[in-house]
Amino acid sequence: MKTIEDYNFKHKKALVRVDFNVPLDAEFKVTDTNRIEAAKPTIMKILKDGGSAVLMSHLGRPKGQVNPDMSLRHICNAVSQIIAVKVKFSEDCIGEKAMNAVDQLKDGEVLLLENLRFHAEEEKGDKSFAEALSELGDIYVNDAFGTAHRAHASTTIIAQFFPEKKCFGYLLAKEIEAIEKVMRTGEKPVTAILGGAKVSSKITIIENILDKVDHLIIGGGMTYTFVKAMGGEVGDSICEDDKMELALDIMEQAKKKNVSIHLPVDVLAADSFSKDARTQIVSVKHIPKGWQGLDAGPETLKMFKKVILASKTILWNGPVGVFEMEKFAKGTIAIGNYIDEATKNGAFSLVGGGDSVAAVKQFGFEDKVSYVSTGGGAMLESLEGKTLPGIAAILEA
Ligand code: AMP
Repeated sequence: MKTIEDYNFKHKKALVRVDFNVPLDAEFKVTDTNRIEAAKPTIMKILKDGGSAVLMSHLGRPKGQVNPDMSLRHICNAVSQIIAVKVKFSEDCIGEKAMNAVDQLKDGEVLLLENLRFHAEEEKGDKSFAEALSELGDIYVNDAFGTAHRAHASTTIIAQFFPEKKCFGYLLAKEIEAIEKVMRTGEKPVTAILGGAKVSSKITIIENILDKVDHLIIGGGMTYTFVKAMGGEVGDSICEDDKMELALDIMEQAKKKNVSIHLPVDVLAADSFSKDARTQIVSVKHIPKGWQGLDAGPETLKMFKKVILASKTILWNGPVGVFEMEKFAKGTIAIGNYIDEATKNGAFSLVGGGDSVAAVKQFGFEDKVSYVSTGGGAMLESLEGKTLPGIAAILEA
């Protein structure tokens, strides 16, 4: 795996695909700089070597149209502040303007190109557009994990124009390493904690990780499809009746593969899906009509804790309750605390995929787990066992 560490950028122009798709407020100020900060080590390495960096990214969904609201110009200041180097800006990402700006770029300087998605060719993965982009640098660096699952011009197609001169940036390399640890090289026992709302959205992940893990903890809304399939009464809990057979099949497969599945035994049930609902702790198999399970119960958490603390490698995807409402957030917070403790005891923990990161950030677990993925969709697809085109394009000769 070629990373940025394998190159010296002295007198070279690095063309870096970053993920600067950051949120802006009404005054076009960046409200969350995480993604910019995540790209900093890569940019700094290039500059420190004595090279220059041409940064390219998308912002929002302009759908192939120029849209001043989604101009990357808005984020120039934020990037300049974070890397402590004044960032230059090119009003287009290809063509004469971009070429001139690149020609004038000196060692130690940084140029940010305008939103790639102002050109429809970007998302179409157009080869000529990718070729036009490729003329803007000597070495291609992909550091955008958030778009690595897309075969877009700047994330994938472009790589073919840099034979022997393409590599992963630090962020993308870290993401790949974290996934490898959970899926292949992690110390046993390996435990996956899967929560979230529906079996249907997690099924491919479950099927893929059954071959990789020793323990599978299932929580959240998915629970009730499993419990009902096994004959339990789930009241008004969220349940996908058409996935019950699939749930039984997963249990069967797990048995064959020697994977222990841990399902909740008790739940915090509510008489409505609301923050003011009345609640009670009930057995997961006997949820009364008119009640729905919205968080893990105390016995369940005790059981989950034991499994998590005995694990050496942990993957967490999805909350075990409706964490957006304080009343039903305790289970998710508890899981975060157990993972924190396991990590302190030497386990490797990865959180990512979909919205999992939102829960982790909301409760301040970011610094307590080993790694928080920066890519929702890209991480989900990785956990599903898919090869991401952006990653494959760098690995290909
Ligand atoms: P996902 O995007 O599939 O990871 O699902 C995350 C969502 O699952 C969050 O918005 C949670 O509120 C929701 N969720 C977790 N547990 C439950 C539950 N028991 N009933 C309904 N929704 C749930």
